Amino acid sequence: MDAKMDPTDTEEFRAQAKAAIDEIADYLDNISSQRVVSAVEPGYLRPLLPSSAPLDPEPMSAIRADVQSKILPGITHWSHPGFMAFFPCSSSYPAAIAEMYSNAFNGAHFNWICSPAVTELETIVLDWLAQALGLPECFLSTGPTRGGGVIHGSASEAILTVMVAARDRYLERALAGLPEGSEEREDEMWRRRSRLVALGSSGTHSSTRKAAQIMGVRYATVPVSAADGYALTGEAVAAKVAELKGRGLEPFYLTATLGTTDVCAVDDFAGIARAVAEHGGSEDMWVHVDAAYAGTALLLPENQEALARPLAQACFQSFNVNPHKWMLTTFDCSAVWVRRRGDLARALSAQPAYLRNAHSDAALVTDYRDWQIPLGRRFRSLKLWFVMRAYGLAGLRAHVRRGVALAERLEARLRAQHEAFEMFTGARFGLLTFCVRPQEGGGGRDGEWWTRSVYDMVNAEGGYYLTSTVVEGTFAIRVCTGVERVREEHVDGLVEVLLAKVEELKRSG
Ligand SMILES: *Cc1c(COP(=O)(O)O)cnc(C)c1O
Repeated sequence: MDAKMDPTDTEEFRAQAKAAIDEIADYLDNISSQRVVSAVEPGYLRPLLPSSAPLDPEPMSAIRADVQSKILPGITHWSHPGFMAFFPCSSSYPAAIAEMYSNAFNGAHFNWICSPAVTELETIVLDWLAQALGLPECFLSTGPTRGGGVIHGSASEAILTVMVAARDRYLERALAGLPEGSEEREDEMWRRRSRLVALGSSGTHSSTRKAAQIMGVRYATVPVSAADGYALTGEAVAAKVAELKGRGLEPFYLTATLGTTDVCAVDDFAGIARAVAEHGGSEDMWVHVDAAYAGTALLLPENQEALARPLAQACFQSFNVNPHKWMLTTFDCSAVWVRRRGDLARALSAQPAYLRNAHSDAALVTDYRDWQIPLGRRFRSLKLWFVMRAYGLAGLRAHVRRGVALAERLEARLRAQHEAFEMFTGARFGLLTFCVRPQEGGGGRDGEWWTRSVYDMVNAEGGYYLTSTVVEGTFAIRVCTGVERVREEHVDGLVEVLLAKVEELKRSG
């Protein structure tokens, strides 16, 4: 059939695309028979491929065969039920189908007329999602503060983008008394810029530090402690802000986290809001809430009162969750909402001010290119729309509840083996961390040696893939149970494997 595929032939496309779908469905059906994490050595691929691109067309069947024989061995299977590393990032059938349409409608979609549906669906779907998460009205496109949501590629991009908006808003207020366009204003702006400080906690994801690095502003870390469950407190923020101001510096931005990367801590939003209000006010400090992973847990109504409602306080200017993590939406899809969309457009619009138009401010049309760093944009809302409709909120909630319950089950199983394991931080939003206790026969080696050894042995075996973390000098194994295919048998199986490794070490040690 495809000895000589013509890449422009529609009939060939039909046949090849259908065959590819069958292969993909087989791959997913059989995923648990694979090692989770790829076992290839660095540089494995180059010797398997020609050293330059082919001059003559190749049949699609040959290219597809190479996917099976050469690419698949180098794939780590994120949808595998033994994938308990990092965070869940599993695709889903509805999202996969939506991506096919998105590819077919391929375009750069930087403004409304580039495809009106791309802009309008994004606004609607992000309003749906904001409501489903219980976010305060100020983040809705129809809300009182002219807020709204946009889909970025990643939480890191979202953080850099809102940090730019925070800086420009801060400087605009700081320079309000100086005449527009004057040398005096220009000099003062550059003087103030050199004093700006962005804040995060020691549990904040490294993307905040990276954003500060890219923007060229200082970054300061607010300490957190085990006594507070590694959550950022209002007192700690107040103390750091006072210290920085005492040194003549100007803190203008803070990342607060709902679900830190290492232990899934949730910062004290109410305390942070109080501290910000007392130290300069919510207009001077832009607080961004990074909920990239655990924000999906706000789909459960029982989490909304405590975690979403406090975000109505004035200091919380933006909020971000990655549906491509725990919400079954194929990478990439990072949803970010702002309280005032004008703050983004003012900082990011490349148009001269005289081209600003009432349509954008009135939300007649949204120019999403002014809400992001790139000009062009993908049709990402389509997959979120497919996922929200095909699962329904009930289906998504069931998925989240299962991930939460599985981590709780794992915690209970590990606690039952208390001779071998010690919880470091208990199950929270589908994530827990634990250590292996020193055992007899290890040559007197410490808990860190036992934990590292068991961790390395489990990952080397290939049935499970776990990650680790180091918090205040403690090395802990970190497990995330949110992948869609994970079931009780996989969690129970993990405990078996962990115990077997401890026994093996006891015998060989
Ligand atoms: C995953 C994660 C990030 C980074 O996400 P990207 O979308 O890959 O940039 C940032 N913060 C938190 C809390 C995360 O869980």
